[in-house]
Amino acid sequence: MEQATLVIIKPDGLKKSLTGNILTRLSETKLKIIGAKVVAVTEDLGKKHYSHLQDQPFFDELLKYITGKLHGENRVMPLVYWGENAINKVREIAGATNPEEANPVTIRGAYGRILTSGLFENVIHASSSSDEAEREIKLWFSPVDISRPLYPVEEIEQPSHKEKVWR
Ligand code: ADP
Repeated sequence: MEQATLVIIKPDGLKKSLTGNILTRLSETKLKIIGAKVVAVTEDLGKKHYSHLQDQPFFDELLKYITGKLHGENRVMPLVYWGENAINKVREIAGATNPEEANPVTIRGAYGRILTSGLFENVIHASSSSDEAEREIKLWFSPVDISRPLYPVEEIEQPSHKEKVWR
């Protein structure tokens, strides 16, 4: 089944200049990139993305990680990959959540580490199911940022809407 999945290159991946290596590894899947950008992660976005983990003891540290406070680097690179069995293909190349348990040939196994706080610093995020992929893609991307129709959209008038445009 063709499906979409969200990958996020986390702040440690950008800080360590691993973007190129990670994209090369992911290209082995032959999946298509249908969305890509660089985002400065706010507290609010980080909390929404990891809302399912808010009761975990490592949640505060995880928020500091994804918002870049651990690395002095608040950029992340969200990407949407599309194709046959995309979620499993990307999870396979990403490797296990715990970088020490991850196969060393995977992205997390090769580049991840466990911090002294116990937090798994594991370089990339990859969606774990199609429901999660949909929730996450809708959180990180607008419909206009994706190069193919993915989920139902609607058009709304926003008369009082303000947005930044180039001067
Ligand atoms: P995944 O990112 O593999 O989907 P989760 O959604 O469960 O895993 O966790 C989100 C992130 O929280 C992980 O990628 C990792 O950075 C961190 N994390 C998860 N579980 C632990 C744990 N037991 N100890 C420390 N950090 C963790």
